[in-house]
Amino acid sequence: MSHLLEQAQAGDPRATARLVSLVENRSPRLREAMAVLVEHVGTSRTIGVTGSPGVGKSTLVTRLVGAYRDAGARVAVLAVDPSSPYTGGAVLGDRVRMQEHATDPGVFIRSMASRGHLGGLSWATPQALRVMDAAGFDVVVVETVGVGQSEVEVAGLADSTIVVLAPGLGDGIQAAKAGILEVSDVFVVNKADRAGANEVVRDLTAMLRAAPTVPAAESAGWTPPVVRTEAHQGKGIDELVAGLDDHADWLATSGRLLERRRRQAREEVVALAQTAFVDAAQQAMGTRALDSLADEVVAGRLDPYTAADLLIEAAAAS
Ligand code: GDP
Repeated sequence: MSHLLEQAQAGDPRATARLVSLVENRSPRLREAMAVLVEHVGTSRTIGVTGSPGVGKSTLVTRLVGAYRDAGARVAVLAVDPSSPYTGGAVLGDRVRMQEHATDPGVFIRSMASRGHLGGLSWATPQALRVMDAAGFDVVVVETVGVGQSEVEVAGLADSTIVVLAPGLGDGIQAAKAGILEVSDVFVVNKADRAGANEVVRDLTAMLRAAPTVPAAESAGWTPPVVRTEAHQGKGIDELVAGLDDHADWLATSGRLLERRRRQAREEVVALAQTAFVDAAQQAMGTRALDSLADEVVAGRLDPYTAADLLIEAAAAS
C-alpha cells in the first residue's frame, strides 16, 4: 500500500486510479489504505463545481484546470455522478472536452459513480478526495452533475464551492429551491455571451441581497461574488480564479477553513459508522431477516422503534 502511494505521489496515474478504485469498490483493503494515507493529507485545496446539466460545468472545469496548470499546480478532477448506475469505471472521465488534458501527467481525471451504497456519496467522495490529496495534487476539483440535494451535499464537501448558472434554464429559481445559495461560495453565470445573462446576474444579485443567503455560521461574513464567464472562449476564467483565491484567503484568515474541515470530517466519520453499523446488523441478521423486520413494520405488527432496537441488538451482538 505504501508503495502504491509512493507511485501515486511520483505522478503515476495508474497508481492513483487504483487507490480511487479501492474507494469505489468499497475494497476490504480500504481501511489499510486510509491508514497509510493519513499522514499525507491536508495539503490540497478542494473546489466543488455544481449546476444543472448543460450550463457548461465541464467546459468551465477544463478551463480552470488549464489556469491552475499554467500556475504550475498538479490538478485532479473527480466527477461524481450520484445517479448513474454503479459501473466501477469511468462515466464521464473520457469526455472529449477533457482530452486536452488527458496526456498531461500533471492532470488526473477520474469519474466515480456511487449509487447503491448507503451513505455512498457522503463517505466515498471525501475518501476519494483524500486519495488525491495524499497523492500530492495541489488542487482537486470535484464536479457533480445536477442540482439535487445529494449533488449540493457533495459540492459542499469542498473548501470552496462554485455554483454555475446559465441563461435560459430558469436557474435562478431552481437555485433558490435546491438550497444551492447556501452552499455556494462563488457564483458563475456562464454563457455570458447569450441573451438573458444580465438578467440572471441581476436576479442572483438581488436574491443575495434580499436574503443574506449564507446563513450557515461557517460562511457568515463572506459574500459570494458573481462572476460572468464564457467558458467555451476562456473568458472570465482569470476573474473566477481571483474570486476563488479571495475565498481561500478568507477561509484561512477567518479560521473558517478549519471549521469547515472539522464539520466535513464529522460527517464522514458518522457516515462510516452508520455504514459499518448497518453492515454489521445485516451480517448478523441476514438481509432476509432485515426484510421480514421491515414487513412486520409495514403490516403494523411491529413499531419502527422496536424494530430499530432489534437491529441495534443484532449489530451489537455481532
Ligand atoms: P455541463 O453539462 O454543465 O458539463 O455543460 P458542458 O460543459 O457540457 O457545456 C454544454 C454546452 O454549452 C457545450 O456545447 C459547450 O460548448 C457550451 N458552452 C459552454 N460554455 C459556453 C459559453 O460560455 N457560451 C456558450 N454559448 N456556450 C457554452
